Amino acid sequence: MVGLGAAAATALTLGAKAGGRRMVGRTEARLCQTSALSPYRASDRARALHATLWVADLHADSLLWGRDLLVRGDRGQVDIPRLREGNVALQVLAATTKSPRHLNIERNDDTSDDVVLLALALGWPAATWRRLLPRALHLASRADRFAARSEGAFRVIRTRAELTAYEIDRVADPSLTAGLLAIEGAHALDADPANVEVVDDAGYRMMSPSHFFDNAFGGSAHGLEKGGLTDAGREMVRRMEARGMLVDVAHASAATIDDVLAVATRPVVASHTGFRGVADNSRNLTDVHAKGIAATGGLLGVGFWPTACGGDDAAAIARAIRYAVDVAGVEHVGLGSDFDGAVPAPFDATGLVVLTQALIDTGFADDEIAKVMGGNARGLLAEVLPS
Ligand SMILES: [Zn+2]
Repeated sequence: MVGLGAAAATALTLGAKAGGRRMVGRTEARLCQTSALSPYRASDRARALHATLWVADLHADSLLWGRDLLVRGDRGQVDIPRLREGNVALQVLAATTKSPRHLNIERNDDTSDDVVLLALALGWPAATWRRLLPRALHLASRADRFAARSEGAFRVIRTRAELTAYEIDRVADPSLTAGLLAIEGAHALDADPANVEVVDDAGYRMMSPSHFFDNAFGGSAHGLEKGGLTDAGREMVRRMEARGMLVDVAHASAATIDDVLAVATRPVVASHTGFRGVADNSRNLTDVHAKGIAATGGLLGVGFWPTACGGDDAAAIARAIRYAVDVAGVEHVGLGSDFDGAVPAPFDATGLVVLTQALIDTGFADDEIAKVMGGNARGLLAEVLPS
């Protein structure tokens, strides 16, 4: 930049950023496809019921792609206008901090990293280029900035008191929406369990030990060794529980799920998952694990993508929900869309009424639909969030 005027340097940087944003946008549009867009078809009865629901979804990766979430997007599945239109009360927003190249659900190592390409293309702070904790902190700060700019339409929930205040405010104004921060893979702690306190202070309230590869804390269902919790992983679980953070076993290896269930003293969640009885692959839960999670008082977020729910429409998601309810009980089932998570979805956040319709068609009672669509998640957060 030597020899360039400050204005020219700024223009060049902005130009590079705009190019990076376009490149990431094309990637997001290619990976996060929605098979049917608004307007969505639903009966008057489904629309009337949906309007009464407190809808909560346990997993979306919308913070990752660099979109301004205050603007209604023409790609992906979630942003604040679409959450409001879909009557979503709470969207868990997850931070992905490292993602291997040639991602697959069978076997990945940790030697490659696509998130660094996003960080460079989107102009994330330099601290994020080599270390993962700064990436998590950067993504939390994005959520906070959206809340600050939203003029009250969107807030990030961190405490039980904030949840209670939000519930009251949302009765007066049902167009309000909110986020809860989560981390996908404890490699975000840069191998130090003490960083649980750092991410908790940044507002994260849920974290999974692993994502697509084995790390210093635990094995992944998609890793090379697929081992259990390490000593550092056990310390991490202790520190998370002491802080009121939810331990999430989505993506965990079978051995890690066994270990988490053995050491957990508080509710455990699988934020976005499928079931082997619906779609038999290593990403999905066995009935034993699904029952084990329910026995902690936790929650199973049923995924919307084909290898989770066994199909590509709302009817398939409703069938997977029926399966989960039959295995684990209706009090322990919720939504885990994986919107904006590089998997296809049958509808975007504005189309959740289509799922309400499918649950009616599957024979669920209204009170069961209310629990699965978000009531259970709301109750769990009211129980576990720090005061
Ligand atoms: Zn995931």
